[in-house]
This record gives sequence, structure tokens and C-alpha cells, in this order.
Amino acid sequence: MKNMLDDIPSILLMGPGPSSVAPATYHALSRQSLGHLDPTFIQIMDEIKAGLQTLFGTENALTVPISGTGSAGMEAAFVNMVERGDKVLILQNGVFGQRMADVAGRLGAEVTELTFPWGTPVIVDQVAEQLKKDDYKIVAVVHAETSTGVRNPVQEIGDLLRGKDTLYLVDTVTSLGGIPVEIDKWGADIVYSGTQKCLSCPPGLAPASFSPAAVEKLQSRSCKVPNWYLDLTMLTKYWEGKTRVYHHTAPINMLYGLYQAIWNVLDEGLENVYARHKAAHERLVAGLADMGWQMLVEEKYRLPMLNTVLVPEGVDEAAMRKELLDTYHIEIGSGLGPLAGKIIRIGLMGYNAQDCCVDRLLDAMRKITAK
Ligand code: PLP
Repeated sequence: MKNMLDDIPSILLMGPGPSSVAPATYHALSRQSLGHLDPTFIQIMDEIKAGLQTLFGTENALTVPISGTGSAGMEAAFVNMVERGDKVLILQNGVFGQRMADVAGRLGAEVTELTFPWGTPVIVDQVAEQLKKDDYKIVAVVHAETSTGVRNPVQEIGDLLRGKDTLYLVDTVTSLGGIPVEIDKWGADIVYSGTQKCLSCPPGLAPASFSPAAVEKLQSRSCKVPNWYLDLTMLTKYWEGKTRVYHHTAPINMLYGLYQAIWNVLDEGLENVYARHKAAHERLVAGLADMGWQMLVEEKYRLPMLNTVLVPEGVDEAAMRKELLDTYHIEIGSGLGPLAGKIIRIGLMGYNAQDCCVDRLLDAMRKITAK
């Protein structure tokens, strides 16, 4: 019988995620499964929690991977923290800010969206003005907006909220492991990420962290968390304490993968990892400029791991992406929403933030556009 998996092509994943998986992480995924309450597995879980604390820059005890992709992290963040009627301010400048508003709205939150043009950052002064108008239970923002390539000013927004009774929620799906994520320094209370971007692990887990203030909110809810699977009050009984209590069967091998992905980053050193992303980004931007291609985002707000590039007049970006995939076995991403057809998105995430990947892509793009 033919097995489709024998035909999986080798594609260099340079889109908005998933990114190519590091070889050591593939190896980790294939190791023998253990039981979800096995003592060795529990030690691995504890090391994952400690590793995530380092990656997130936090001492939050409640720092755990949620089973599911980045969107499960987003759901877990809102479903545990929002109660019906809570006022939530979403700072929105892309697809994932929009998704946050949708998620919070479905939970009965009173959502206000403060929007900014896609491709530009959140303006801190406008946030300060908005905060004078109402008291919000949660203010939420995406650190690295994958749909636009913009880095939002998370520290400055956190500074506005310091001392207030407002929880600060930050999406770090694309930023974690690529640029500094320092949630205690930012004053962030509720943070989640994903495995398939700069951690170079397959999609499937959402590292998340909750501050003592967020835990207090969780414990003082007037009603149960309205989602069984993502309920942190129950999940913590599996992830914390001397005696662990089964909640759902942990995705054992995915957790091996995450363990290895964290190990890879910490072994290389966070500063080295950030420097590698920056160097690859600069090499890409310079190479594109030589070809006459310009970036969408102003230099100081650019993300190194997610490069949004304006498509020059006369270039059929969909045809170029197809040829990159078919002939050169490189995947890049298209623009979303209002940016569809206007930009391409090039990921330099984790393992792929390397000169050789940048050069391979630029070379292919040159050949395609020279025809
Ligand atoms: N938030 C951001 C910033 C993202 O880039 C993504 C996915 O690309 C998500 C959330 C959702 O993550 P997932 O697609 O893994 O569910």
C-alpha cells in the first residue's frame, strides 16, 4: 500500500509559520512515549516550565504550555480571565488583534477596539487618551503582528498600565525566541505564544504565563471558567504540586519537542539567538534593496523574524510564490486582508534565521524576477 508520507517534499519554510523544524527537535519528537504521570515525564514537565520562565523573562509560577496551537493560548488567556460584561480594550493593528476582539466578544466581554493602520505600530499617546475614557479589566496587544510585520511598543503600553487595576495581556506567538520577551519587565499579566515560529518546533503547543494578579483574578471569578479543556484552575493540578492529577492526556511527544526547542535556544544563548535573527533580517533587507524591493514597515518598528515586503509594480506575487515553491522548494507567505496582493511575508524564524536561508531565497527570487 502506498504511503503518502513517503512523498513529503523537503520545503524550506520561510513563511509566517510554521518554520522549519530543527533536526534535534525532530529527533526529540520521535523518542519513546512515556505515560503522562510517569516520574521522568513529570521532571521533563518541570524543566519545560523553568525553561519557559527564562524565555518569557518571568518568575510567574503559572507558566505552562497549553495543549493546542497559538490560538488555544489566546482562547486560554481570555476564557480564564474574562467574565461576562468585563470591559476589554484591544489595541488592534492586524489580523491577530482582530482575532483577540472576536475571542473576547464571544465570551461576553464589552470589547473596545482601538485601531491603527495595518503596517504601523500602536501609538502610545492614543492608548493613554483611551485609558482616560474608561476603566478596563484587560488591555490586550499583539507584540509581533504576524500579518503586518510590526513590532508593537509593549514596554511603553505596560508603563501606562503600571499601578492600575487592569490586567495586561500580550500575544507573543511570533516574538518568543526571536526578539527579547521580558514579561515581568513589561508588567504583562497574561501572555501566550506558539511553538511553530521562532522555537522551530511543529505547531501544537501554546506556552503561556500568568502573573500573580492574573491568578488572583482567576481564583476570584464569580463563575466557573466556561471552557473545560482550557480551565487553568484544573490544568494547574496536573502541572503543579507534589501529587499530579490527570486532567487530559498530555501530548507527550509534542512536549518532548518543546523541551528540545527550549533547550536549543538556551544552549545557544538568548542574546546570540536574538543577534542571529537580527543579522539574518539585515542581510535580507539589504539583498531585497539591491533588487529594488522595499519594506512595508518603517525600520524602527520592523520585526526581524517576519519581513513584510512591498511587491513592485508588474510583479505577480502569487506566481512568484508558486514558482518559489514548485521549483525552488521554498515557501513564503502572502499578504492578508487589506495587504493581500500588495506584500509578501518572509519568515526568518528560529532555525531558518541563517545566512544560507536568506541567500537561497534571494537567489531564487532574482532568477524568477529576471525572466
Ligand atoms: N497570534 C499571532 C501573532 C499569530 O501569528 C498566530 C498565528 O500565526 C496566532 C496568534 C494563532 O496561532 P495558531 O495559528 O498557532 O493557532
